[in-house]
Amino acid sequence: MVSETGHYIGGQWVHSGPLFQSENPSDSADPIGHFHAAGAEHVEAAVSAARGAFPDWSHSPLETRQSILDEIGAALCARADELGLLVAREEGKTLAEGRGEVFRAGQFFRYYAAEVLRPTGELVPSVRPGLQVEVTREPVGVVAMITPWNFPVAVAAWKIAPALAYGNCVILKPSEKTPAAACALAEIIAHSGLPEGVFGMVNGDGAGAGQALCASPGVDAVSFTGSVATGRAIARTATERMAKVQLEMGSKNALVVLGDADLDLAVQCAINGAYFGTGQKCTASSRLIIERAVYEPFLEKFMAEASQLRVGHALDPETQIGPVIDLQQLEKNLEYIDIGRAEGATLAMGGERLERPTSGYFMQPALFTGGTNDMRLNREEVFGPIACTLVADDYEHALAMANDTEFGLTAGIMTRSLSRAAHFKRHAEAGCVMVNLPTAGTDYHVPFGGRKQSSFGPREQGQYASEFYTICKTAYVNA
Ligand code: NAD
Repeated sequence: MVSETGHYIGGQWVHSGPLFQSENPSDSADPIGHFHAAGAEHVEAAVSAARGAFPDWSHSPLETRQSILDEIGAALCARADELGLLVAREEGKTLAEGRGEVFRAGQFFRYYAAEVLRPTGELVPSVRPGLQVEVTREPVGVVAMITPWNFPVAVAAWKIAPALAYGNCVILKPSEKTPAAACALAEIIAHSGLPEGVFGMVNGDGAGAGQALCASPGVDAVSFTGSVATGRAIARTATERMAKVQLEMGSKNALVVLGDADLDLAVQCAINGAYFGTGQKCTASSRLIIERAVYEPFLEKFMAEASQLRVGHALDPETQIGPVIDLQQLEKNLEYIDIGRAEGATLAMGGERLERPTSGYFMQPALFTGGTNDMRLNREEVFGPIACTLVADDYEHALAMANDTEFGLTAGIMTRSLSRAAHFKRHAEAGCVMVNLPTAGTDYHVPFGGRKQSSFGPREQGQYASEFYTICKTAYVNA
């Protein structure tokens, strides 16, 4: 149980507002804690504290920012075991995945701590004789961050770290499904020496705290990660008053397996992409597009290995696939099993709710075969451990199917052909392309984001994050 259960506003923990509960998806008899939901007054207090802190923080010495971010990063890395356990308990990912997430969050802070010391600007000759032009970047102001539950620490970290590094003030509104993980992150940030008001956090649901934050005139920019429907609603609210918006949303990623692929590696990558993290990743491979020549051997190996995956309590070290986040998501997954069947696909493996010693939301990873790319099963994001194979006649057919989607976050190809891989890298309509790798799993020092309905606005992560968290100024000097 984390001790802080309120909001973090103006450098203080504020314990008021109606209570809601966070539950353990592996065991409904193990509640994680109670948390206060923010009302409009909490949101406005956090915005006002952030606005008050912005003038000083935006001009703070680079080494101050560098050392604070470095300290947050070091604390997250040092406490990865302890906080990873909390993430696993609250989100349902395995212990290893939980630890990995918290450590990665620390790496984001360390990376941006170093970035603080690499400020850039341009000095450009003017077209007018005697003048010089300076192009500099300034922080945007107060940035609201609305985050999902599936990476409750890492997604928040990859937004907060660059925002602070470039001199912005931040208000985080984490998912109401994983408030304990967010509070643990906020607690670390609270002890980092950051001036009061520079970082704030309000808990609560999207319709309440989230909507109020996006609508607040004191918020200059909103960085959102979550579903497409919520992204659209946030964009409407924020752009109505001309706030800057960045949206990272869902997807329907394809992994293409060509006839010349290393089949063992292809199966490993397909299982990893489709089911690890319980399939609850925006980068998950839900469409497995297999060239006809290797379809049967691929399927045989895939089923043999995937049917052995150990589904269970997230804290059991033997577990490979943890529970689904909650009953609502489990019901949605099971509904898509029915939809897939009704559309004519064959449920070749799994797809049923599992009983375990504790009462949780366990589901056997599912594989559909015999599907087509126009089925709802293959067009809509399910966000669960459900994949469908699609048979391709050849590479061109596979590429066309991979691109035939309204989403475009990641796309993968398994092949030994350099020319096919090169062609796929150029022609896959996705923000991130993986060659002989799972569609999930990215680095922190390079841009991350998608195309089409998966993303809107500038990329996140690496130096590209400065596109969103800074604004250009062009100064003309008659020297
Ligand atoms: P969600 O859209 O339901 O919620 C995300 C956040 O938005 C939560 O904090 C929620 O409280 C808030 N919210 C909901 N309605 C709001 C509103 N009207 N105004 C302001 N805030 C509101 O998504 P989720 O179920 O938490 O997460 C799963 C989704 O996130 C999936 O679609 C997944 O693909 C996506 N995701 C994308 C990425 C990426 O980088 N592209 C990463 C992780 C997850």
